[in-house]
Amino acid sequence: MLVALCGGVGAARMLSGLVRVKAPEDITAIVNVGDDTVLHGLHISPDLDTVTYTLAGMDNRETGWGVVGESWTVMEELARLGGEDWFRLGDRDLATHLFRTGRLRGGEPLSAVTAELSRRRGIAVRLLPVTDDPLRTRVTLAEASPLGPAGTEVGFQDYFVRLRHDVAVSGIRFEGAAAARPSAGVLESLELADAIVVCPSNPVVSIGPVLAVPGVRDALVARRERVVAVSPIIAGAALKGPADRLLTELGAEASVVGVARLYAPWAGTLVVDTADAGRAGEVEAEGVRCIVAPTVMSSPERAADLARVVVDAAV
Ligand code: GDP
Ligand code: CA
Repeated sequence: MLVALCGGVGAARMLSGLVRVKAPEDITAIVNVGDDTVLHGLHISPDLDTVTYTLAGMDNRETGWGVVGESWTVMEELARLGGEDWFRLGDRDLATHLFRTGRLRGGEPLSAVTAELSRRRGIAVRLLPVTDDPLRTRVTLAEASPLGPAGTEVGFQDYFVRLRHDVAVSGIRFEGAAAARPSAGVLESLELADAIVVCPSNPVVSIGPVLAVPGVRDALVARRERVVAVSPIIAGAALKGPADRLLTELGAEASVVGVARLYAPWAGTLVVDTADAGRAGEVEAEGVRCIVAPTVMSSPERAADLARVVVDAAV
């Protein structure tokens, strides 16, 4: 059995490769919920949805989020009404949020709703939100923005979508983390896994919240030699999104060496891109085995090639 720790897009790509080299039934994906938010009364789980849509083959490759062939009737009408439309929700996507919200209101935990949604989408990978409890990433802004003066704390989607992560950050916290319990199967699967893959996801706001759930980090430390992480930072930059900026702003180094330093306590191996081959020695000096391979998953085939490297590294 293989376990993958997941954020959004980078993780979805990694999983699309892993299912080509391992039986999907033998893969458990533990997914970040720190990005979750409530809009228009609807519970939105962006990372779970990115992973689900990608594994179901219905992801929108042009936008990098949402559903392929999407229509926008509801959003357009909402805009006409003067409703909040900064977070775009397509018509097909809305069905997911309606379904999820209805079930949650009925008392089901997020993990049960997630399992139901992935079953209906024909997904064999076991998808687990890291917790069923409320866990929300909160971002303190280092400068003034339309949302307030420097020092204002905002929700993750306010930072990421509303402000287009185009504002400096001075702090991150995971509200609710201390009281959150891992959802059923999380700790058990980490204990039993032959390999634990840390997908190339944002170390601060995707992997960070997963590790903040009590028990998860210790479970990784205990299995450190089986933990293989893929660096989301290539040649000092994120492929997309604010991972590089956030690392720098929060005092880490935006490089494979910085990632190795952060992950060293609980990851035995780091896979870095061929562009970073020259820094393998510095990664190993952090106490982490370094494997150099092409890591840009521009197609499912390339993702499968990387998945082979990762799986071989763990056993
Ligand atoms: P989200 O999609 O916004 O939830 O963000 P993620 O947590 O998935 O993190 C995005 C990170 O994944 C960025 O730092 C990207 O550089 C990285 N990423 C996305 N695709 C790839 C890829 O194909 N290879 C590698 N190495 N990193 C990737
Ligand atoms: Ca995300």
